Amino acid sequence: MSAPGPAGPLDFLLTGAGQLVTGDPAAGEGPLGLVQRGAVAAAGGRVVYAGPEAGLADLGLAAATRLDAGGRAVVPGFVDAHTHLVFAGDRADEFAARLRGVGYEEALAAGGGINRTVRETRAATDATLEASAAGRLATALAHGTTTLEAKSGYGLTTEDERRSLEVLARLARLSPVEVVPTFLGAHLIPEEYAADRDGYLDLLEREMLPACAPLAEFVDAFCDRGALTVEESRRVLEAGFRHGLRGKLHANELGSTGGATLAAELGCVSADHLLFCDQQEAKALAAAGTVAVLLPGTSFLLRTGRAAPVQVLRDAGVRMALGTDCNPGTCYSESMQLMVALACVHGGLTPEEAVLAATDGAARAVGRGGRVGRLAPGAACDLVVLAGRSYLDLAYHLGVNLAATVVKGGAVVAGEGARPGAGP
Ligand SMILES: [Zn+2]
Repeated sequence: MSAPGPAGPLDFLLTGAGQLVTGDPAAGEGPLGLVQRGAVAAAGGRVVYAGPEAGLADLGLAAATRLDAGGRAVVPGFVDAHTHLVFAGDRADEFAARLRGVGYEEALAAGGGINRTVRETRAATDATLEASAAGRLATALAHGTTTLEAKSGYGLTTEDERRSLEVLARLARLSPVEVVPTFLGAHLIPEEYAADRDGYLDLLEREMLPACAPLAEFVDAFCDRGALTVEESRRVLEAGFRHGLRGKLHANELGSTGGATLAAELGCVSADHLLFCDQQEAKALAAAGTVAVLLPGTSFLLRTGRAAPVQVLRDAGVRMALGTDCNPGTCYSESMQLMVALACVHGGLTPEEAVLAATDGAARAVGRGGRVGRLAPGAACDLVVLAGRSYLDLAYHLGVNLAATVVKGGAVVAGEGARPGAGP
């Protein structure tokens, strides 16, 4: 159980949580650190107490913001570990074609797919690009996401990649959501470099990284069939490391292409997708401490019937995280609630694993383990009061927004009790 923090002025106090998911196994029952009749207190935006209401006796109960959860469940704010938030246009027609049987790789070969979004993103005005990304970020927040990783990768020129990261920097200032920016200039070799792949990678290394790295925390590459090879991905990541970025990798989504092994070898913070992952690859990821970011919305919508091999990852002791993969091609959703549900009903996770993966696991996948994604002393006071009595509702009560109130850093930023203008 968390010990009450020093008595002093609180700026946030929540009581009446019928079920409080702390994410801190030391604070309550089971892997979720579950507390019945829980309370959370915060000062300076950080949790000073998360535990049974009864443990609050030593703390002064005056706080600028007081919430009564009214017996509903409270979970840590969701962390979305993988999004492609900045893009223009949409690909609803390709989605419909896929429902009629056209494959994702076929669409890519026919001039659709990522290349099409790259053309539309380059053509968009700054205002259009920013407004569309801001709208998606606001939707994510309204659904309980308080920290979100977001990639560039639809620009694929120095200017357009930098522009996407500048959009993210502005959104980070304007929105309550903590935005984690990733440089994904290696999303694809752009069409104009199809005959000169090394020429593009030279440009990326010589010009794009110096321009973009100051605006990013992570470097990522799409290491897969039809995208970058293992050696090309290695080159990009190692160049990113020289600019002080940490590594992520789109790995083993479309086949066993060596991405998982590369992510482990390079000590990437996360390897994402992993629809193909054997025991050896899983052991390598576990040994490297690389988090597996599962994207169940994407695997569900690709309609191949394949999900990441959760039992293999579990057996190897790989830590799991969830992300929406929010993008116009393979999964257009900002809802981590939906991802928790799909991770359970399609992906084979237990509800407890899925909730942990959407919070603490995802926090680790974006380099913020212990700082966000759990309600424990010292962590950011980011939480969601659910419109339900149990965290199980996240897997069970489908297709509705269960985020009744969203709190970021001890302030109500969305849902019931949010002040107008508190959101983005
Ligand atoms: Zn992705």
